[in-house]
Amino acid sequence: MNPLLIAVPTALTAGAVVAYGTAHPRAQLFGRTICSTNSARKLALTFDDGPNPAITPKLLDLLDRYKAKATFFLIGRYVRECPELVQETVARGHEVGNHTELHPNLLWLNPTKVRVELRLCHDAIRGAIGAPPKWFRPPFGMRNPWVVPAARELGSCTVMWTLLPGDWQERPLDWLIARLQPIADRAKRALGNGGNSAGTGDVLCLHDGGHREMNADRSRTLAALEYWLPRWRDLGLEFVTIGEAVNTTAP
Ligand SMILES: [Zn+2]
Repeated sequence: MNPLLIAVPTALTAGAVVAYGTAHPRAQLFGRTICSTNSARKLALTFDDGPNPAITPKLLDLLDRYKAKATFFLIGRYVRECPELVQETVARGHEVGNHTELHPNLLWLNPTKVRVELRLCHDAIRGAIGAPPKWFRPPFGMRNPWVVPAARELGSCTVMWTLLPGDWQERPLDWLIARLQPIADRAKRALGNGGNSAGTGDVLCLHDGGHREMNADRSRTLAALEYWLPRWRDLGLEFVTIGEAVNTTAP
């Protein structure tokens, strides 16, 4: 038998498994990650690529209006530029996490460069708020075998998501609102008539900044949240930080 007939499919399968472990948000191949909340009643709102002076202050006000707590995954170089905004975010009850110093695709970096990217952002956050970040999210969701361990070395747990609506895309507001519909659909199924809130809840990944430059326009993300926050609240959802999302003690 031609050995290629055996070798080629095996290699293809291994390649597919590695691709899955690299990019799929709920894959655990390259280390354990947090991908959902521990109750169908808890929705974890997360915002990447800030702090962003053009959007984050308005987002903090909007979240306050609905008593919503969220988690912000910050880019180190922006943290150094506006540490006061990070301090205010934490002072208003939110959590912050590491999203690397320069937002590279970590998939292509060697272990040393991965460690440097994580360490610089870790130090920037600690310098701004006086405490190290507990959470880490890889840019573009990309992991290789040394990304999750590098975060763990810094005492940070890696956080992925259940829903990534793509709010960075240049699309109309209606499109983004429709992309957020699955949260309401799941809440209705879990919490509606006869629902007992068993099971897990969503981790939603949105963006209050842009990784290419500061002051990115994310006003559509704000507008979509203006639409959904009251509706999600009326369905019985609670808006929690990642710390609250995985905390098993009674609320
Ligand atoms: Zn990002």
